[in-house]
Amino acid sequence: MINTLNWWHECIRDVPDFPKPGIVFKDITPLLANGEAFSAVVSELACHVGSDVDAIVGIEARGFIFGAALAQQLGLGLITVRKPGKLPANVHSVEYELEYGMDRLEIHRDALSIGHKVVVVDDLLATGGTAAATVQLVRKLGAEVDACLFVIELSFLNGKKALGDVNVHSLLRYE
Ligand code: AMP
Repeated sequence: MINTLNWWHECIRDVPDFPKPGIVFKDITPLLANGEAFSAVVSELACHVGSDVDAIVGIEARGFIFGAALAQQLGLGLITVRKPGKLPANVHSVEYELEYGMDRLEIHRDALSIGHKVVVVDDLLATGGTAAATVQLVRKLGAEVDACLFVIELSFLNGKKALGDVNVHSLLRYE
């Protein structure tokens, strides 16, 4: 497993000062371009999805890539949580805090029902605001979040704390 983790780490490129000065962007495009590594990452994510889970929830945009592949592998549906104004039918919205200012995420009101159990997927957990807003949206529909899965976690930003009692699994952690 240590060799596998090293291999995955090598497939993630650090891009300093993107999208703004001081941010080290974790670029997953080399991982996606490597068929073997991409497939192995999705299979590892699948190990953390219980057999009683009804759907995968992917967060725009890079969460769609891993979420769709995971849903397809497990034979589950994909629910999309999107940036404002992208979903065409009636939505629930949740506002959340960014480093500077606020942002909003939306889900279709009929995407899930009371009693549904889901797993939320995104590429990266930083401060946790994005994932916490997604958990709120799922709960607004009466559904339950079984776990949040991430390919990468920036542990030094303490994103797990923002997710409270939700189970969190990350494949690669940066301390
Ligand atoms: P946060 O809400 O702070 O946990 O930020 C998580 C979201 O922002 C994810 O959808 C990531 O794709 C993106 N993100 C935040 N920080 C980075 C980073 N350093 N590199 C790549 N993506 C990031």
